[in-house]
Amino acid sequence: MAVRTLIRWAGDDPGREGLLDTPARVVRAYEQWFAGYSQDPSQHLARTFEEVSGYDEMVILRDIAFVSHCEHHMAPIVGRAHIGYLPRTRVVGISKLARLVEVYARRLQIQEALTAEIADTLERVLAPHGVAVVLEGAHGCMTSRGVGQSTATMVTSRMLGVFRDNRETRQEFLAAIDCRGLAAAGRAAA
Ligand SMILES: [Zn+2]
Repeated sequence: MAVRTLIRWAGDDPGREGLLDTPARVVRAYEQWFAGYSQDPSQHLARTFEEVSGYDEMVILRDIAFVSHCEHHMAPIVGRAHIGYLPRTRVVGISKLARLVEVYARRLQIQEALTAEIADTLERVLAPHGVAVVLEGAHGCMTSRGVGQSTATMVTSRMLGVFRDNRETRQEFLAAIDCRGLAAAGRAAA
């Protein structure tokens, strides 16, 4: 019913043939876009591996594609997440890192909060030496409306532990994810 109201408000006829099944399709799309509310992010990280065979370097998963929706306009945010952590004793399957991004992305979000939630959950569950999360997002509310900046992307980051305190560790991570401009910004900040 709400979708029919929106269609009518936009100026179209919800009763015309091409739009008849649209409300049901929108409901199914919403179920997928906002599936994150029914999932516990730490559950995806419940299974950790303690045996790391002396591995003591950083673990990085980059270019994790995500789709989220901004809480201000419910417009899509399409982007990529890059995650790094320096394990202390526990590591997690890499697909779980992508799951973690997905659980938080599939909610109404602002990119800053999404970035922090991913980093803080990893920190809490894995208790590593440090966590680094960088997100690049194209915001539908900016690319398709408002100021109409169709190519602008927003970059947010959260650095914890050694990634915050140790400039070399941070640089190593930023170089590995090859995020344009960020390495330079990291140098400036250090
Ligand atoms: Zn927005």
